[in-house]
Amino acid sequence: MHWRTELKRFGLRFRLFFNPANARVTGQCLQCGNCCRQLYLRIGNKQLCTADDFKRLLKHNPMYQIFKIAGTDDEGELYFSCMALGDDNKCRIHKSRPGICRAFPSRTLKLQGGVLDRACGYKLVPIISFKEIFQQIFR
Ligand code: SF4
Ligand code: SF4
Repeated sequence: MHWRTELKRFGLRFRLFFNPANARVTGQCLQCGNCCRQLYLRIGNKQLCTADDFKRLLKHNPMYQIFKIAGTDDEGELYFSCMALGDDNKCRIHKSRPGICRAFPSRTLKLQGGVLDRACGYKLVPIISFKEIFQQIFR
């Protein structure tokens, strides 16, 4: 097969590996509270980097007032902690928590450059492994 076709095939399979459709969420919440102590917020596809970014986000999502800026990471992106987290690591507004909390951990997490906390009881597992993809390419 022509090398261009091979390369295209490889590209397709590579994209499939990182596609949210190739991920499933396993495990369960262990209530460590870590994801509520350090979380990232976005406006559209943009990560928040300044207090003004956060103000703009609040105009669209007033509920995000439960979050407060906790610091800036090495990439210059803001991270937040949540004021609704109880001392017992439980969410005090569980029934009315924001959509981003309900969707956590999203299958798109790794596509957005995010990772799960090491202590998190959830895992994002690829449905098709890299090994299987390589076997399909080079069989
Ligand atoms: S609203 Fe609840 S689930 Fe969401 S970050 Fe705050 S404490 Fe965690
Ligand atoms: S980091 Fe994972 S285990 Fe810990 S509270 Fe969040 S979802 Fe639950």
